[in-house]
Amino acid sequence: MGKSSSVGWLDADQFRKIRQSPALFLAYCCVGRALRSQHLLRRGRPTIVVLIAEAAMNLDIHEKAAELFVIGRPPGWDDTRKPKALVHVIEPEPRHRIPTQGKNDLLRCYGKVPAIVVLARHRKDLPIELAAAADAIIDLPRPSAAHIVAARSLLGRKPIPPDTAELLAGNDVVMLAPVLTKFGLTSEHARILRSFVPHTAADDGPSLEQLPGYRDVKPWARSFAKDLELARTGEIGWVDLDRGILLHGPPGTGKTLFARALAKMCGIPLIAASVAKWQAKGHLGDLLAAMRSTFERARELQPAIVFLDELDSIGDRTKFSGHNIGYQTQVVNSLLECIDGIDGRQGIVVIAATNFPEAVDRALLRSGRIERHVRMDLPDADERAEILRFHLGATDDDRELRTIATDLKAWSGSDLEKLAREARRLARAARQSAGPAHVAEALPPLQTLPAQTARRVATHESGHAVVALALQPGCRASVSMRKQFRTFSSDAPVQGMTRYLDEPGDLETRASMEARICRIFGGTAAEEVLLGARSAGSGGGRGSDLHRATLIATKMVCSYGMGRSLSFLVEDDHSGTNWGGGIPAAARREVDGILAEQFSRAKAIVRSHVGAVEALAGQLLERELVEPDDVQAILRRHAPYRLMKGVTR
Ligand code: ADP
Ligand code: MG
Ligand code: ZN
Repeated sequence: MGKSSSVGWLDADQFRKIRQSPALFLAYCCVGRALRSQHLLRRGRPTIVVLIAEAAMNLDIHEKAAELFVIGRPPGWDDTRKPKALVHVIEPEPRHRIPTQGKNDLLRCYGKVPAIVVLARHRKDLPIELAAAADAIIDLPRPSAAHIVAARSLLGRKPIPPDTAELLAGNDVVMLAPVLTKFGLTSEHARILRSFVPHTAADDGPSLEQLPGYRDVKPWARSFAKDLELARTGEIGWVDLDRGILLHGPPGTGKTLFARALAKMCGIPLIAASVAKWQAKGHLGDLLAAMRSTFERARELQPAIVFLDELDSIGDRTKFSGHNIGYQTQVVNSLLECIDGIDGRQGIVVIAATNFPEAVDRALLRSGRIERHVRMDLPDADERAEILRFHLGATDDDRELRTIATDLKAWSGSDLEKLAREARRLARAARQSAGPAHVAEALPPLQTLPAQTARRVATHESGHAVVALALQPGCRASVSMRKQFRTFSSDAPVQGMTRYLDEPGDLETRASMEARICRIFGGTAAEEVLLGARSAGSGGGRGSDLHRATLIATKMVCSYGMGRSLSFLVEDDHSGTNWGGGIPAAARREVDGILAEQFSRAKAIVRSHVGAVEALAGQLLERELVEPDDVQAILRRHAPYRLMKGVTR
């Protein structure tokens, strides 16, 4: 049933009332939206529905709207029974609308009137008997863009463009009413009003719609927000919603910012947590208690988002003060329990972020848990310009900013924010408003990769791609590198990258896991074979070539029985984490053995494909990006001079 037909419940007199007051009309739309899924109520059966109108400026107008809704009866409703519906408001200062005082009296009316609609500001304001007796407790939605368009046309004002309506959506009815009455309503008015959208419990900062970038993930975010609203009004079940979401991607791509902005867009509170925060006191017991209290708090505030930042550190034993693997296992298990304690967490969505999805405990990512995985990429040239403009605080000279942004390949959102901050500082010093000239001035110097380093990077990446294609001829891989770059930070930026566009499915065999290790070693192997020695570039941190290869080999030996021993040492779920010295010596030797074997295999492949590696590296140095088709063509042109045993498949 759409809003026009719910208005159709009203008689002419009631309709006139609504028509005279845009605020009442909007409140009626919101109440209608919340109540229209209440089938018992609509059939005139005794029902108690509670509407939670958190942060509403004025409950009276909603009360009036609710009265109109429940008293206005659908055509054909038996008039002779003269049902009296009841609307009751619970304000922190109680103002009872029922004949006698006392909260129990409200329930005594149950059954005598077809409907009791209760308006309250918070769930915690509800008397417990009422909360228990209620057929539904629903968050009162705020006016949507469609409501705003309808109100405008009801007022006989010029229609407004959809994006202006979108900006106005979510505002309080009391604030919207006078704005909608304006004859010339511009998007500027909308934008000003937007900045007043009242904040709910925990969320602060911009809404996702206000943020630049995120082009690939915004459509998903919008549909999530829509589903969430449907769940809040009871039109779909919470089970139909994504339970948990993992945001993964390189640092500075705005994952943390995104989670907050998403919560803001959805209008629900966000409870931010991370292992580091839970961990503050250092003892396992305190950590587990802090974790449980995060979820407890979410349960009180639901619907709510629990945001777990840096999820990969969840199983990082090196950060615990204890000395056995039981610590890590307990932390992971306890988090699983919190996430699975679903009965009580209908309205709780878990959003997690990580820079290293490979290092996240697999068990956390299974369906029903953090099941949806959203990749956040570095911004492209257009998005970079938008992000710069955003942090600069609007500038009209677009073209120049765009030119600058085009050159900032591989800059993350956080790099751009830093640049904009620096530009604003320069502008302030010169008592000017920040513009492209200040950005240009703030740019760090352009650095050029020394020729030798560039050669090494090109060779390394080509090694990955060539080994991958030698092992799996149809494989689609692209390689890229940067010869020139600007950076603020003292660490060199990522200089080269090989991306595989067709990752294999997840049922892995010994052979496929070995092949993955082998291609990870392809880079270092190419450095050794072609340049005589390897660099430190493949090891170092989490997510490095060595780290990833070691993870795979550890799983093979300790979880999948693919080593010499069939004994099961640890769940694959847990081998993704840092064992420190915990792995048994025999298993460790086997892991070493697998790594050594695959490293020599990678070297052998590189040796037999020297021509291809050199040709690809040459192309890469020249063009900085070689697409999968060209990579394949180069490999075909430079066939191996000696066919390897066991590498054809
Ligand atoms: P991550 O969690 O992925 O490491 P953050 O969310 O911490 O990244 O982002 C760091 C900063 O970078 C943000 O506070 C913001 O200033 C800036 N930033 C990143 N992405 C964007 C974006 N799309 N729009 C505007 N600012 C961004
Ligand atoms: Mg972050
Ligand atoms: Zn590498």
